[in-house]
Amino acid sequence: MTAPQRPPSVDTLARSLKTTGLPHPILVEIARAAIDAGDVDSAPARADAFSRSLLTDVVNATGVLLHTNLGRAPLAHRQSAHAQTVEFDLSTGERGSRQTAVGQLFAKLCGAEDAMVVNNNAAAVLLVLAALAAGRDVPVSRGESVEIGGSFRVPEVMAQSGCRLVDVGTTNRTRRSDYEQAIARADTDVAMVMKVHPSNYRVDGFVEETTIAELATLDVPVMADIGSGLLDANVPWLNGAPPAWLAGEPAAVQAIADGADIITFSGDKLLGGPQAGIIAGSAELVGRCKRHPLARALRPGGLVLRALQDTALTYLDKRAATDIAFWRMVDRSPASLQADAESIVAMLAERGIDVSNVRIEPMAALPGAGSAPGVTMPSVGLVVDGDHLRSLRRYSTPVIARSRDQQTFLDLRAVEPGDHGIVVAALAEALAAAS
Ligand SMILES: *Cc1c(COP(=O)(O)O)cnc(C)c1O
Repeated sequence: MTAPQRPPSVDTLARSLKTTGLPHPILVEIARAAIDAGDVDSAPARADAFSRSLLTDVVNATGVLLHTNLGRAPLAHRQSAHAQTVEFDLSTGERGSRQTAVGQLFAKLCGAEDAMVVNNNAAAVLLVLAALAAGRDVPVSRGESVEIGGSFRVPEVMAQSGCRLVDVGTTNRTRRSDYEQAIARADTDVAMVMKVHPSNYRVDGFVEETTIAELATLDVPVMADIGSGLLDANVPWLNGAPPAWLAGEPAAVQAIADGADIITFSGDKLLGGPQAGIIAGSAELVGRCKRHPLARALRPGGLVLRALQDTALTYLDKRAATDIAFWRMVDRSPASLQADAESIVAMLAERGIDVSNVRIEPMAALPGAGSAPGVTMPSVGLVVDGDHLRSLRRYSTPVIARSRDQQTFLDLRAVEPGDHGIVVAALAEALAAAS
């Protein structure tokens, strides 16, 4: 009879997990939990689960280009450890505003007098309403009183800002006269009208909306939450005509040119930059937003400001098609995606993998992040027999794909050619694990 083995000490077990690269205090906690559970052997799996709870790079093979769960627009941004002029005016040596650098660039890009930046578009809408309409009335079309992304609900954001929502028109049709009547009513004190891009849904059929140009003929300022952050409907940074899937997406330049007094949009949707909310418009209205106390609570840090500045300079330099990851994905032709797919299959075959159940098929990619609902762009990808999602996620650089009916779909439009090696290796492991 052998004596029952004593469990290892917490410290010994923690040290045995050192190769995970996790910090010692975390490993001690994991070791203690495994010992307390009477399951010492579970320690490596617990460490692995912890590692997988940390933020990590992945390859997005979902075909959803701006995938909300994967951080929307992918962004390459490196920053040095130097101090930077976040609130310092180099010409005077005095304190400056963190809104100056980025504000002037986005004003230029939008064709507006001034611009400023906050943490996201929800914050931008909240700040504009609080600064320009608190305690007063804001008519909004019933067709635009929407919920976007789960927690952004127009009536709730308006309530938080302290302004009063006045519903006008109907779900499918709202005319200029509906706004006009709301403004003329004796019991309202209208600060401005707000137009919201419904973003993630579309009403078809007997539909009428009031354009920004029509709203601009009313006696009150017009705010437009355009959401997606498309800068210019003509997409001058791409060669050729604007892509068909962009039709109907509101754009900053056109919204301002049509007479919007103030607009808001996201930094990490079609703009392709970091998470941020941009407010652009007349100097007077943007100035009131800058001076509102909430502006301090919603302001971004130097990291985001610098990344947004880089994004803005990239557009002004006409380098967006090559230097902004989102537009690089958009700009890829189906023929080049087909060539990518063929080269991935060839690399798998070279590794001796049986590729008889791997097929190349046309696919339909989506812009994502609630932009351009119901529209797709032609794409190409791999279809692999069997559901390999779990294995693909387990690769050292996880590959995120989709599955349906026991088939795995890897759309290549959001996969950078430099990541093909990862896709090949992850697929090779997945197929080996399945056989
Ligand atoms: C996406 C979106 C928002 C929310 O923007 P975030 O940057 O996610 O805060 C608000 N309004 C519209 C119209 C949107 O499309």
